[in-house]
Amino acid sequence: MVALKEELKPFVDQIYDTTRGNIIGIKKGTNSNAPKIAIVAHMDQIGLTVFNIDQTGFIRFKKIGGIVSKALQGQQVRILTENGPVFGVIGLKPGHVTPAAEANIIPPVEEMYIDVGARSREETHKLGISIGFPISYNMKPLELSYGHIATPSLDDVCGLVTLIILAREFHKNHPLSTIYYVGTVEEEIGLRGAEVALNGLEVDIALAIDTTTAGFQPDVNMRELIYEVGKGPAINIAELGTGIRFSSQLLVKWLRTVAEKYKIPHQVAYQHGGTDAMALMQTGSGIPSCSIALPRNYSHSPIETFQLKDFENLILLIEKAIIDVKEDFNLHRI
Ligand SMILES: [Zn+2]
Repeated sequence: MVALKEELKPFVDQIYDTTRGNIIGIKKGTNSNAPKIAIVAHMDQIGLTVFNIDQTGFIRFKKIGGIVSKALQGQQVRILTENGPVFGVIGLKPGHVTPAAEANIIPPVEEMYIDVGARSREETHKLGISIGFPISYNMKPLELSYGHIATPSLDDVCGLVTLIILAREFHKNHPLSTIYYVGTVEEEIGLRGAEVALNGLEVDIALAIDTTTAGFQPDVNMRELIYEVGKGPAINIAELGTGIRFSSQLLVKWLRTVAEKYKIPHQVAYQHGGTDAMALMQTGSGIPSCSIALPRNYSHSPIETFQLKDFENLILLIEKAIIDVKEDFNLHRI
């Protein structure tokens, strides 16, 4: 959060954080009648939290957001304390004493535990660890072949980096529109920061920059996942959760037209899971919103994998789209 604020600061007219934790940077446009645009990315990420420390020093945890249970055991983690990170591992029953019937069963998260090296509750406390502290994967990005990169925090570091790159770009080449660069909190636990992020702001269009789940990996039913890594950024027609929630179709059409005009590779389909766009859409009297997402395999795991050229095209698409917005941009459905 601090990093986002510092990175945006030189390129905006004003920047502040709200009591809810969201960050808002504002850069005035050259035409006050042009629609005002918010570019939004979430600052939180999936992870765990310290739920209990047992007498022998092992840590029990709860999930924050949709972390995949089967991607947990055997992982290295980082517990974020006020004195810096403390490293741990998520332990598991020794292979030699695991009965064959149990070998392929993933225990419930309540039965998992983190070993930080302490062997008493006091020793764990001495490391500065308390109940309620956040825990994240301890894994570095890894460059694979053919332009693929695997990393644990893609969702939504890619959105935050997009904000920073666009802020730099629009500082040199001013768009007509006033731009709101918005970092939100608590997206992964129900779009909670975005629900209040734009209250009281004069925003006409909101774009949420996020990741999307891609298919084309051996264990996925291709009927369910249409997006593909390497085929360009995803323009989401709608988002699928317990039901279907539509993006502003005016914005979908605008983004699609811009992508075609500038020959930017892109994909247009349905996104699995919600993004901040759906909360922004319900702000005030309803801000036309749409999410644009970077396709990645292995979502919500420590090895989310994407293509660098998709990311470049995502940034290019948003940049061109915003530059194309004129005073007469139609915001009405009829
Ligand atoms: Zn996300």
